[in-house]
Amino acid sequence: MSKHAAVIGGGITGLASALSLSGRGYRVTLFEADADLGGLGTTFPWRDTHLEKFYHCFLPDDFSLLPRVKELGLDGQMLWRETKMGFMYQKRIWPMNTPGDLLSFGPLNWIERVRMGLMGVRARFHGLAPELDDITAEKYVRKMVGDRAFEVMWKPLLSAKIGDHYSTLPALWLSSRMNREKSSGPERKGCLPGGYRALIDAFAATLAQRGVTLRLRTRVNEIGQDANGMTLNVEGPEGASSARFDFVVSTSPVGHFQKMTKGLPIPSSLANLKLDYQGVVSGIFLTRAPLTEYYWMPWVDSGATSQGVIEMSNLVPLGRSHGLYVNYLVNYTHRDSALYKLPDADMLARYRADLASLFPAAGASIEEEHLFRAPYVEPIWTTGYSRTVPPNSVIPGRLYLACTAQVYPRVNSWNSCCSVVDQMLPKLFEEVDALPGGGQS
Ligand SMILES: Cc1cc2nc3c(=O)[nH]c(=O)nc-3n(C[C@H](O)[C@H](O)[C@H](O)COP(=O)(O)OP(=O)(O)OC[C@H]3O[C@@H](n4cnc5c(N)ncnc54)[C@H](O)[C@@H]3O)c2cc1C
Repeated sequence: MSKHAAVIGGGITGLASALSLSGRGYRVTLFEADADLGGLGTTFPWRDTHLEKFYHCFLPDDFSLLPRVKELGLDGQMLWRETKMGFMYQKRIWPMNTPGDLLSFGPLNWIERVRMGLMGVRARFHGLAPELDDITAEKYVRKMVGDRAFEVMWKPLLSAKIGDHYSTLPALWLSSRMNREKSSGPERKGCLPGGYRALIDAFAATLAQRGVTLRLRTRVNEIGQDANGMTLNVEGPEGASSARFDFVVSTSPVGHFQKMTKGLPIPSSLANLKLDYQGVVSGIFLTRAPLTEYYWMPWVDSGATSQGVIEMSNLVPLGRSHGLYVNYLVNYTHRDSALYKLPDADMLARYRADLASLFPAAGASIEEEHLFRAPYVEPIWTTGYSRTVPPNSVIPGRLYLACTAQVYPRVNSWNSCCSVVDQMLPKLFEEVDALPGGGQS
């Protein structure tokens, strides 16, 4: 009999883990607290299709994710398009894609523009140098571009990703981000005609073919261990129950993992790790008119509640949304903030006001609106985090952790989550197979 694995979480990290474990011949049961798979990449039903709750795209160098897309037979469907970024400052839009765009950026003086350009070159040169982990991104950027350019451009960009926690971010994270998103040549992004739904469904179909048991609406509350293996206390549609496994892979955020493992001998560095997460609020506006030609545009000092917009229809063909333009207005904000807790109707009213003020034509052509939030999105990295990244192997052969707390310094993305799984697997296979009680079939 092959060993039986439990995977906790049905986001990309759980799906990729279950795919690899079942591919290796283990029996796998995946637990997902929600009614649907996909985690933060999940979708909601819309007309005869689905739309993403939170904007998601692929990048050409998603070197851990794209092989999975291929394994699931969807690589032939990928659509790649050149996309552009705009930058709104005090209600005026500036293109921000080429060195020439930067040199023409009026809100900064000539010296500041040149220093900004040189910063891109220097960040590429510094790459992922370990010493960048010990200084803040703010200090790193201020030194290279000066205080005013930081305030006009970088502070809003950093805040747009991590809210008011930008001041703690390490320079290593920033450099990793700049190297991922602005590698040489025009920016290209990818999508699937069926969206992330198509990928999630392909995962689910392959897992089902391999005999993986998917237990949706089932939350794992506690992980235990005895002489024969691991036990999980779960709560699902049939109430509370307990289940036994040879080994467990948990993909939930690190704070949830710490709560689930309170009774276990896990390393104190992991038990005591303090890592908070930034949340997100996302308003989706389907409009008859486009906003701009840009995929992403932060708006700064323009009097809006939202931090910017992702115009998905500048990447995804309009046919998918029945000719309507799909726009995501976003705020990265902590789950305890007053903004995060605003009622849906108030939040949508604020976003509607943003559109009316910044894009009157599109704002007057809203056909539909939807609002979603997620409390645990971006880990709030702090300097020196490289030295505290939790291990994958928590109890060798028995308990493994693969989650967004381990993507650092990479950008939090489906690709980085797959890289975490790839990094976990060799040791997991070695340790699990060394234990008595059967191996892979
Ligand atoms: C607004 C936004 C835009 C983004 N854009 C992109 C993009 O363009 N490209 C990209 O690649 N990435 C993007 N990302 C990032 C990407 O969504 C994340 O990196 C990724 O989804 C994290 O996957 P995960 O499986 O680790 O976690 P999650 O997606 O959070 O999944 C974890 C799952 O585990 C479940 N779970 C947790 N605890 C338990 C438990 N105890 N029992 C059972 N189930 C449990 C949760 O319900 C959840 O479904 C974006 C994220 C956001 C929010």
